Amino acid sequence: MTSSTGSDRRTLAVHGGTRRSQYGEMSEAIFLTQGFVYDSAEQAEARFIECADDEYIYARYGNPTVRMFEQRMAAIEGVEDGFALASGMAAVSSSLCAILSAGDRLVASRALFGSCLYVVESMLPRFGVDVELVDGTDPDQWRQAVQPGTKAVFLETVSNPMLEVIDLAAVSQVARHAGAVVIVDNALSTPLYQCSAELGADVIIYSSTKHVDGQGRCLGGIVLGTKDFIRKTLEPHAKHTGGALSPFNAWVMLKSLETLTLRCEHQTRIAHELAASAEGHAKVLRVLYPKLESHPQFAVASTQMTGGGTVFTMELTGGRKGAFRFINALRLFRISNNFGDSRSIVTHPASTTHQRIGPQMRQQLGINDGVVRISVGLEEPAALRADIEQALDAV
Ligand SMILES: *Cc1c(COP(=O)(O)O)cnc(C)c1O
Repeated sequence: MTSSTGSDRRTLAVHGGTRRSQYGEMSEAIFLTQGFVYDSAEQAEARFIECADDEYIYARYGNPTVRMFEQRMAAIEGVEDGFALASGMAAVSSSLCAILSAGDRLVASRALFGSCLYVVESMLPRFGVDVELVDGTDPDQWRQAVQPGTKAVFLETVSNPMLEVIDLAAVSQVARHAGAVVIVDNALSTPLYQCSAELGADVIIYSSTKHVDGQGRCLGGIVLGTKDFIRKTLEPHAKHTGGALSPFNAWVMLKSLETLTLRCEHQTRIAHELAASAEGHAKVLRVLYPKLESHPQFAVASTQMTGGGTVFTMELTGGRKGAFRFINALRLFRISNNFGDSRSIVTHPASTTHQRIGPQMRQQLGINDGVVRISVGLEEPAALRADIEQALDAV
C-alpha cells in the first residue's frame, strides 16, 4: 500500500475498514463482547492455531469494532496494519517493549511528552536497555549516537509543547544505515499533516485521545506499521500484556474519524491565523508554530508537513506571573492539558504536564515559565481572537 493523498484520506476517514454484519447496518456496530463462540471443538482448536481475517478469540486479542478502527487508521496513514490499545501511552510502551530487550540500545530525542520521557528515561533502563537522549533537531547528534547495533530510535515530531520539528527523513536514513527501527510518536502532527511512513518511519504511534477522538471523550492509542511488524512483533506482546482498547472506545473513535479532516483543517487554519496575529505583540516574546517563518525548523516543516497543526505555543513576558495572568484572564479557552479537542484549551506546561521533569530538563527543552500552549478548538474564530487579545492585555 502507498500513502494516501489528501482527497483519498477524506474518503477513507469515512469508509475505511468498515465491516458489516449479516444485518447490513449503515454505521458501525459495537461488538461489546469479551469472547466469541465456536461451532465445534475442531473450530475452536483451529482458531487457536491460526486466526484468519475476521475470526476472533477474545477481545484482548482482537474485536470486530476495534478491528474496524485499526484498519481505518491504517488506511488513512497508508500503511498495512495496526493494533489499537487503551491509550497513547499503552501504544508507546507496548511498541518499545515489543521491540527492545535487555542489552539493546535506544536513541531518543529529548523533547518528548512527559510520560514518554518517563518510559524511556526511568523505565527502560530498569530492564537493561541502554538509552541515550539527543537534541532531535540536530542531525549531527543523531549521527553520533546512532551506531550499528542501535536497535531503535524514538522521536516525537512535532514535539510537545515546544513544537520542535525533527527532520524525519534524515533521522530515518541514519537509522537505516545502522539497522535501527524508526519509531515515531505522531500525536501532534495528526494523521493528516505528515506522511511518516514515506519519510522512513517503520512504526507510527498515535494517542487517539487527541485529534482522533477530537472531543475529549475517550482514551485510545494505536500502533501502525507493516503487517509483518504488527502481527509478528507487536501483537504477541500487546495481546498478552492486556492493554486492549475497549470496543466502545473504538466505536467512538470510528465515529470521530468521519469528521477528522473537517475538524483538523478548520482548527489548523484558525491556529495558524491566531499564531500569526500574536507574533510581534508587545506581551509576546516568541510564538512557535511550524508554518510560521520564524519557527526554528521552518525549512524542515515546509517540506515535511502539509499543515502546521491545531496547536501553537507562545512565550509571554513576565514569566510564570505573566503566563498565569494570561491563562486566568481567558474566558473561552479552558484550562486543561489535552489538545486536539473541539474546545479550545490553554496549558501551562512548566507547572503541569512538564512539572515532573524538573527545572534543568525544562530549561534544556526551552519550557520556560512564560510558555503557554494553546490548542485551538471549533468555537467562533473571531471570538477566540478577541479572547486572546483581551487576555494578553492582562499580562
Ligand atoms: C498525549 C500524548 C501521549 C499519551 O497519550 P494518552 O492517550 O494520554 O496515553 C503520548 N505522546 C504524545 C506526544 C502525546 O501528546
